[in-house]
Amino acid sequence: MTPDQNEEYRAFRQEVRRFCEQNVSDALRQRVRSGLRATPEGFRQWQGILFHQGWGAPTWPKEHGGTGWSPVQIHIFEQETAAADAPPQFHQGLELIGPILFTYGTEEQKARYLPGILSGQDWWCQGYSEPQAGSDLAGLRTRAVRDGDHYVVTGQKLWTSYAHEANRMFCLVRTSDESRKQDGISLLLIDMDTPGITVRPFQTLDEQAHVTEVFLDAVRVPVSQLVGEEGRGWSYGKVLLDRERALTATLGARLSRLLEQVREAARKASDGSRNLYQNPVFRAKLAQLEIEVLAIEQMGLRMLADNVAGVDTGPRGSMLKLRWSELLQQTTQLWVETLGYDASRFAPAGSAPGSVPLDQSGPMSAYLHSRVTSIYGGSNEIQRNIIARRALGL
Ligand SMILES: Cc1cc2nc3c(=O)[nH]c(=O)nc-3n(C[C@H](O)[C@H](O)[C@H](O)COP(=O)(O)OP(=O)(O)OC[C@H]3O[C@@H](n4cnc5c(N)ncnc54)[C@H](O)[C@@H]3O)c2cc1C
Repeated sequence: MTPDQNEEYRAFRQEVRRFCEQNVSDALRQRVRSGLRATPEGFRQWQGILFHQGWGAPTWPKEHGGTGWSPVQIHIFEQETAAADAPPQFHQGLELIGPILFTYGTEEQKARYLPGILSGQDWWCQGYSEPQAGSDLAGLRTRAVRDGDHYVVTGQKLWTSYAHEANRMFCLVRTSDESRKQDGISLLLIDMDTPGITVRPFQTLDEQAHVTEVFLDAVRVPVSQLVGEEGRGWSYGKVLLDRERALTATLGARLSRLLEQVREAARKASDGSRNLYQNPVFRAKLAQLEIEVLAIEQMGLRMLADNVAGVDTGPRGSMLKLRWSELLQQTTQLWVETLGYDASRFAPAGSAPGSVPLDQSGPMSAYLHSRVTSIYGGSNEIQRNIIARRALGL
């Protein structure tokens, strides 16, 4: 049975569709539709709108301010928001640190931080990676030394997405040197306006500045900002990384929307002698992608069901993340191919907004940005290692 054979789900789909029609602004819609990521302001605006509707945290339990939706409802919500060209919600607060806080945080931490995540008032960044400590994350060297009621944190983080927009960071730090290097790591919550923090954005291939280096120079963090127990940060971090990969479970719906945009572009394009959409080679590529996207959507739905039921989804998050990144890269590549030379009219860094029409600059930007998906959250080589070890027992 598909969700749409169920009357309750059909009504829910209509409710989300109506809500999107009334609430996704034209500016946001146009940007997302053209393949560009929402601006930080756009992400905040959308989160605020969802929060006012009571839909700020689709995947959270009701007791913590979430919707308590079933996996099928979450899936329908993703499908409808994607179809309406609403951006995905920014995930670092909502899907990464939020659930860690309501699982392991103190009552004070929950009361202080969860409302800001839900409303979009707080923007969290993830301070994990460092120079020489990406795939080998346990090799991190940023140190936190206890001094009375504070930790004094010194070190450098790298690749910290949107740290220049964030007012809070969840940060893995070394609190002791143990023989097993995973054992001396703790998870701290740091306010980004604490003296001693310097953030330096740098540009990536897609000509955007969304990643940064963060320097921490004797930053004083109250001990009350420690999550869970000192030295247990690695186990919380691992839960969080599994969750980051599992997140892609909801992104299958967005791949479908992207394919639709490729289809629309092909209907307007020519292969020299006929409409590109009629070209059998193009259609074969599109059909292959459509089949694989349908398959990953089903896999995502199954995984979402296990997540919500609290079942350990283990290496399936890695399988999904790996496949999703490959499909996103193939789909955006086909989009660029469909546009041909027009796709190369890509806005150079610093150019004025609108200097290249959005429907031309977006696909190339989306294609270039998609490269990152096989690196961040753990590179695809690492995901393959996890699958080999945990799923295949190699
Ligand atoms: C755009 C972007 C945004 C990011 N955002 C964040 C963020 O917000 N917060 C954060 O903490 N981090 C973030 N990251 C960092 C990301 O998680 C790391 O880049 C990633 O974990 C890889 O680490 P590395 O870059 O140090 O590469 P390395 O670990 O040096 O790896 C280099 C290459 O070697 C391969 N490799 C390494 N070890 C093995 C192995 N054992 N077996 C097989 N192959 C291996 C890797 O797969 C990779 O291809 C971001 C990265 C990017 C590019």
